Amino acid sequence: MLKQLQKLRLFPLVLFLVLGIGFHSKSQIIKKPIPDKLVVLTFDDAPASHYSVVGPMLKKYDFGATFFVCEFPPNSQDSSLYMNWRQIQALNTMGFEIANHTHTHANVSKLTKEEFNSQLSYIEDKCDSLGIPKPINFAYPGYGLNAQSLGFLEKKSYHFARAGGSRAYDPEHDHPYLLPSWATDETNKEEIFEALNMAKNGKVVILTIHGVPDLEHPWVNNPPELFEEYLIFLKQNNYQVISLRDLEDFVDFEMARKTISPDFKGKLNN
Ligand SMILES: [Zn+2]
Repeated sequence: MLKQLQKLRLFPLVLFLVLGIGFHSKSQIIKKPIPDKLVVLTFDDAPASHYSVVGPMLKKYDFGATFFVCEFPPNSQDSSLYMNWRQIQALNTMGFEIANHTHTHANVSKLTKEEFNSQLSYIEDKCDSLGIPKPINFAYPGYGLNAQSLGFLEKKSYHFARAGGSRAYDPEHDHPYLLPSWATDETNKEEIFEALNMAKNGKVVILTIHGVPDLEHPWVNNPPELFEEYLIFLKQNNYQVISLRDLEDFVDFEMARKTISPDFKGKLNN
């Protein structure tokens, strides 16, 4: 009888602790309230137009951005199609984030731990030799990923990793290694404008953008006029346009990684 009473008395305390810890960790993920109209721009694959068109245009509107670079086979050495490392270095000097998209645009779900390591290290070493800060963020080439890839990224101390999924990012529910994004192309203007309207109520919109234009991959081509139309819209409507590393002002990636379990059931590609 006494024991039962003790149990009953302890119950509210246990309940309080469980709920308290739950709420506590959730609020700790958010370091600063997410404002409405927060957009992250990410650029993939290092096509030449990221240096010649995108960098100067982003500067014109004073927007931040992340460039996920790789050496895209087989034409990565052709600087008329892809940026060379000096151009990537120049984007860093202009204030943009350089992040990791693997050495050879590899599908990381098919790599061993050693292969994944060397794919990441190649880009990290290149950056190091050119005075570019060590990449801390990652994007899955071709949206290929699995649970093991997330483990590798954690061992290499990456902060965020971007996938697809065509939906807004909810920092309290999405694992930091499964950031959703929309990919732009020349046919989905309406969808992208609708997407930009979803940057509200604690959610962030992340865009994945390839070449502006993209000569090698026409299915992800962005006409420069359309790209500038997005930038004008963002500017005129007072959006805050940032890089993935700037997201850390708002989101504690470590707390998010510890408290959110990755959900592989939803759509993860674009
Ligand atoms: Zn890519």
